[in-house]
Amino acid sequence: MSTPPNHFIRQIIDEDLAAGRLPAAGLRTRFPPEPNGYLHIGHAKSICLNFGLARDYGGQCNLRFDDTNPCKEEVEFVEAIARDVRWLGFDWDSRQFYASDYFERLYACAEALIGKGLAYVDDLTAEQIREYRGTLTEPGRDSPYRTRSAAENLDLFRRMRAGEFADGTRVLRAKIDMASPNINLRDPALYRIRHEHHHQTGNAWCIYPMYDFAHALSDAFEGITHSICTLEFEDHRPLYDWCVANCPVEATPHQYEFSRLTLQYAVTSKRRLTQLVADGTVSGWDDPRMPTIAGLRRRGVPPAAIREFCERIGVTKSDNAVEMEMFEACVREELDRTAPRRMAVLRPLKLTLANWPAGQVEWLTAASHPKDDTFGTRELPFTGELYIDREDFLESADKKWKRLVSGDSVRLRNAYVIRCDEVLKAPDGTITELRCHCFPDSLGVNPDGVKPRGVIHWVSASHGVPAEVRVYERLFTTAFPDREDGDFRQFVNSDSLHVFTAVVEPALAQAGAEARFQFEREGYYCRDSREPGLVFNRTVGLRDTWQRKAGSE
Ligand code: ATP
Ligand code: MG
Repeated sequence: MSTPPNHFIRQIIDEDLAAGRLPAAGLRTRFPPEPNGYLHIGHAKSICLNFGLARDYGGQCNLRFDDTNPCKEEVEFVEAIARDVRWLGFDWDSRQFYASDYFERLYACAEALIGKGLAYVDDLTAEQIREYRGTLTEPGRDSPYRTRSAAENLDLFRRMRAGEFADGTRVLRAKIDMASPNINLRDPALYRIRHEHHHQTGNAWCIYPMYDFAHALSDAFEGITHSICTLEFEDHRPLYDWCVANCPVEATPHQYEFSRLTLQYAVTSKRRLTQLVADGTVSGWDDPRMPTIAGLRRRGVPPAAIREFCERIGVTKSDNAVEMEMFEACVREELDRTAPRRMAVLRPLKLTLANWPAGQVEWLTAASHPKDDTFGTRELPFTGELYIDREDFLESADKKWKRLVSGDSVRLRNAYVIRCDEVLKAPDGTITELRCHCFPDSLGVNPDGVKPRGVIHWVSASHGVPAEVRVYERLFTTAFPDREDGDFRQFVNSDSLHVFTAVVEPALAQAGAEARFQFEREGYYCRDSREPGLVFNRTVGLRDTWQRKAGSE
């Protein structure tokens, strides 16, 4: 592996190490997803950063589910998240934690705050609380319940826990400063009442801690040294520090913020992705068009390509949307190295060799990778009836056309040179078959006086295997679906899936689920993991055709 690039969080850690500020146990980070959806490419940046730092500095990274809002969370998401992080190549040993593991300790911290006069039970409604909060330009006002005694607060808080009050009737609030210029410090809620079943704690609780409170303290409980999150939490940092400073915890974690990843032509928000799944725009969270880890995986993106991408985009505090080309370049580079070559004809056009002995099968040996012998070879059956791609033939063309043309010759990849002598058509003019001549001694050498225009791929008609090939276009018609006016779904590309009834070389019939290949001259493809039949998803094309379609070759 290449040496990891330096960035500001590494510099902070290096300084902490040099100053002896890290505990003996070393660096501790965590990846804290809320299990309310599947992970997306943005999360991958956070995963690679947190787990990558722990790996590079000999520390540990915990997987912690921030499960403080039972209404939107599900075990399905917990399992999917763990699966995706593992697939990305990271491991948390037995350190899979849940904020809900700490509900009792969090509750004790809340009681401690009440005891110190730093938290109070407020009876204002949610709407009143909003009104009292003030605005960016006006200070807030104190709630009339702010001056309750510690004893009264403790009694009410215990009764909140005991289930005496209905949802939304009371909250526990931190007593900080209603006039603070930082709205997050205007007595933020710490606990709310939710009579909801929780996927981890069942019906044990009817009050649930708020994210800021639970997050800061969970970090402290786990001895997290560097709590790394995205920039939108920058204004929450004073509250984070307040919780750590005022609650009975030993560790003093610090929060650092970096800019979130946004990727052009994609949305990276669980809420938006949930909408696409719910309204059937895509077939599910793992639809190969989705920028989810599960979708990218099913599409054939190797985890190493995602890790490389996350290294290349770096870690900064400045916001910018990364171009899809950059992501695809990482995918292409990885697959070029790792994907065996195969042949698949997406738009089959029959080609018969008039001079080939009837019924004869010749097995040709072809390298599985042009640059790497360790991939070995495979046997290709060559027969008198073949398929080539319809797009590789023209009745007439100038010399720039490097494929088959009527009356001229071309090399069949890994096989013979052929010449097209006759074009058969249906009454409507569609070409139904090409009658060709095969140059018998042309394996590896051009026959005397014959200069094939180029090389095209093919599959034996008798030995080829039918397969469904799914080719995906971008999911959105604009690079910034999220930033445009109105519902982002108006920018969904209604033509993002093209299905081909292809014929593929026989070796592909045995492809395992998720096996990745380069279909020569076509692109990179992956055997679909869900469909029982032989289905391949296109991962990415061979060249960058993202902004404009490539020319004729
Ligand atoms: P979303 O907006 O998609 O719902 P979230 O931030 O609410 O994302 P969490 O489950 O809370 O989702 O995220 C877990 C971690 O991943 C957090 O630390 C968060 O900062 C980080 N993260 C989420 N989205 C991105 C992104 N686009 N780029 C980098 N990190 C991200
Ligand atoms: Mg979140």
